Amino acid sequence: MKDTRISIIGGGIGGLTAALSLQHFGFRVSIFEQARELREIGAGVVISPNAMHALNFLGVGGRVAQDAGPTELYVVRHFQTGAVITTRWTGPDYFDRFGASYHQVHRADLHGALAAAILRNDPDCVLLEHRFETLTQDAKRVVATFANGKTHASDVLIGCDGGASRIRACLFGDEVVNYTGQMAFRALVPMASVPPSIMKYPYAMHVGVNRALLHYPLRHRTVMNVVCLAREPQWQDEGWTIPATIDEVARLYADFHPDALELIRAIEPGTLFKWGLRDREPSPQYTKGRVTMLGDAAHPMTPFLGQGACLAIEDALVLGRAFAAASSFAEAFAIYENTRKARANGAQLASRQQADELQGVTERGANPGAHAESRGMYDYNPATVPLALARRDS
Ligand SMILES: Cc1cc2nc3c(=O)[nH]c(=O)nc-3n(C[C@H](O)[C@H](O)[C@H](O)COP(=O)(O)OP(=O)(O)OC[C@H]3O[C@@H](n4cnc5c(N)ncnc54)[C@H](O)[C@@H]3O)c2cc1C
Repeated sequence: MKDTRISIIGGGIGGLTAALSLQHFGFRVSIFEQARELREIGAGVVISPNAMHALNFLGVGGRVAQDAGPTELYVVRHFQTGAVITTRWTGPDYFDRFGASYHQVHRADLHGALAAAILRNDPDCVLLEHRFETLTQDAKRVVATFANGKTHASDVLIGCDGGASRIRACLFGDEVVNYTGQMAFRALVPMASVPPSIMKYPYAMHVGVNRALLHYPLRHRTVMNVVCLAREPQWQDEGWTIPATIDEVARLYADFHPDALELIRAIEPGTLFKWGLRDREPSPQYTKGRVTMLGDAAHPMTPFLGQGACLAIEDALVLGRAFAAASSFAEAFAIYENTRKARANGAQLASRQQADELQGVTERGANPGAHAESRGMYDYNPATVPLALARRDS
């Protein structure tokens, strides 16, 4: 098994964590990334204890926590009155309850910590400007073909190429990717520009009819991550980084509390981006022959649970453990898929429900809805969860 040639397609959070996990268990990997450089978009990501267990196990948790700074009290606020509806203590309380900490992290910091770790293990393991196009597989190997004209043969291939996964299309055909009827806006606001009224509750979700606005500080409170999630049935544009205007968001959130509107007005023009959120139906199968999928490629979901990246990190550690425990790649893939599918596919559906509950606030009352914590998401430890035995026929 230790000589298995492993290719990973996609150098996002999922692909890099998978690489680190497999390296940790003594495997060599090659990562193929379409971009010219290894990097992440400028935005925040919440890393909850379930994923921190994996990052700690893989030796990068300390750096991620250090870069993030102290965690914050989380509050849900009513969109019109600004009144606090619920609070959650995400600091030492979470650590005591779940055995690992909870952090609001700049994506570039998490990605950078993972990249530094894998490159320390193997300086040649990342191949940039390799846009995967197609694959063939037979009894002996899988061959990936890239847009730059190169091909690469390996024993197994792991598709970590995100929600619009090309690997997935190669394995299972072009499936329908649903536009969820939700659009997202994101921006980073330097802390000096954030209105003082917001700093009373720096980590808050303002919930309103068909809309939510989330903000939390990053990098030791030097920058504020702002995410607006709004229902928009008519969305047509493709792409993740379409520029948006402040007026456009301010109009959509016009009936929100002055604190929220002040924050929207504090966003610097040119730093606001929007995109339409898409997801897929849960997949009955992640693996075909010598190829499997991980992270958003396997189970893309809306961001309402704040768990997509956390689940990719969990997948990655379980995949490494499965390879370490198995005597063949087929057994490793079966263990991985059997261990992960129910949890990750369940989260896809829970994330849809969460959207309905969070954006179901009426003018008369509030329904802040369930939280990832109360849905049991944080009770999982991918470093110790029992591996599901492989079915020999799979
Ligand atoms: C607004 C918003 C907020 C979110 N907040 C959170 C949060 O707080 N917590 C959380 O856990 N999750 C959150 N998520 C979800 C999280 O961002 C994703 O689940 C996570 O980024 C998935 O990681 P991934 O590595 O599977 O895919 P991606 O991050 O999409 O990475 C895919 C990689 O593959 C590369 N690639 C794609 N196609 C090819 C190809 N053909 N050939 C080669 N390379 C390719 C890409 O360039 C990229 O590097 C949020 C999502 C959104 C939209």
